Amino acid sequence: MRRVVVVSNRVIDLRKAPQAGGVAVALADVVRLHNSLWFGWNGEITSDATAGVATREGRLATVPLSESDHEGYYLGYANSVLWPVFHNRLDLAQFEAGFYDRYVAVNRRLAGLLQPMLRADDVIWVHDYHLIPFATELRKLGVQNPIGFYLHIPCPPWQTFMAIPEHQDLARALAAYDLVGLQTKADVANLIDYMANGVFGRIVPDGRIRLFDRLVSVASFPIGIDVTDFSKVKRAGGLVQGRPSVSRIIGVDRLDYTKGLPQKFKAFGRFLEKYPQYQRQVVLTQIAAPTRASVEAYSDIRQQLESLAGSINGRFGELDWVPIHYIHRSTPRRRLAGIYRSSRIGMVTPLRDGMNLVAKEYVAAQDAEDPGVLVLSQFAGAAEELTEALIINPYNVEETADGIRSALEMPLAERRTRHEALMAAVRKHDVASWCQAFLSQLERVRSDDDPLSWHSPESIRTALAKLEQGTLPRLRSSSRALEAVRPGGRAQ
Ligand code: UDP
Repeated sequence: MRRVVVVSNRVIDLRKAPQAGGVAVALADVVRLHNSLWFGWNGEITSDATAGVATREGRLATVPLSESDHEGYYLGYANSVLWPVFHNRLDLAQFEAGFYDRYVAVNRRLAGLLQPMLRADDVIWVHDYHLIPFATELRKLGVQNPIGFYLHIPCPPWQTFMAIPEHQDLARALAAYDLVGLQTKADVANLIDYMANGVFGRIVPDGRIRLFDRLVSVASFPIGIDVTDFSKVKRAGGLVQGRPSVSRIIGVDRLDYTKGLPQKFKAFGRFLEKYPQYQRQVVLTQIAAPTRASVEAYSDIRQQLESLAGSINGRFGELDWVPIHYIHRSTPRRRLAGIYRSSRIGMVTPLRDGMNLVAKEYVAAQDAEDPGVLVLSQFAGAAEELTEALIINPYNVEETADGIRSALEMPLAERRTRHEALMAAVRKHDVASWCQAFLSQLERVRSDDDPLSWHSPESIRTALAKLEQGTLPRLRSSSRALEAVRPGGRAQ
């Protein structure tokens, strides 16, 4: 079996994986399940500019970042430009001079450190927005292996993408991959729209995109969880605020402006005001794990949230009941399953989110005989699969407040039926099938009979000439484009 080289911004100690979250947990599972090498940043910031790669157990290869790399690449371009823009928050993007150069320089340095460790038959899987130029830098060093890229965050609408001053460079960098994977079909449509309208990509008859001098596949691979981690849990013990009648609504998010936390608190406040019979009966426990605190937008959202929690608690609280139980610390993942299971509602209401694994974890942790209800934002990637959740628009405070009430009053039979459907969806795309689907598609797009080969310009020219005969004209929208390439669709 070929070795899978996983490249991500952050590499974690495999033994500590159960305490981590999100992308790191998913990648730790990939590394555990495959013959693999995991390469990336070890989380340390050093003043030693010459620090090289440290390897551990033959499976982890890590490097530290310098202070200026961390500033310009990680806090700067990745998290103050790409993160806000890809989450539709152009207003928060900091297009500062020097960020992009540092971003490319770090990708170049990391690619240069990885290249000597590569074997001819490795498959390389690069993860997330920190590393978009990584394949370009490897290609420049002569690497010919199949390279796939997976974007864990959403892909924005094409005109938003085009607001990034370096968007053409990013598109060119994406074209250096053989396969670009995204979370949802909506993200795929956005990226194809961008490639077609923003940088003159063309869809060729086999469904790939011809972009600059390359052909790239774009497809959705919704990420999942390890269902068994969450499905065999017991309720976390103890009464909610000392009384058996009090129901818990649980929220678990990083304290990020994309997570819609102020909107969630406002909707909960409105719920208590509109349905006063629930006062003293319900508590919102919000775990808001600290994140990127040195980026200004993050300290702003913290202040806003703490002031809202204070005002709602001040307005409705009683001596023996505090409506919002706000915890600004991260909770070990192994404890979350029990907390999910003992919570009557899981409230996952981001303004925009690539997937949102908490939504899937909440579903997996429920007791099938007496399940809780998932209230889910229509703007979480998970909403594409978890259609039996109570789907709400997080910007609509009234609708969210009413959603809380509907969830609390939902009859047992309906909760069971919805949970069964949600559980089937969570099982269908678990973390193992996500990994398997991506890697097998990457193998397919670079199989021997593939007309494309990075290392043979002649074969590219021949293949493109053949494909050109049936190439579609530049298309205005992905829906038309997809219709045209579908078997039996209108090729024009
Ligand atoms: N998580 C955790 N402890 C916390 C908060 C979150 O272990 O205090 C985990 C959570 O269980 C989930 C991940 O972090 O696995 C968050 O992933 P998600 O996709 O929901 O959001 P992201 O943080 O990646 O934007």
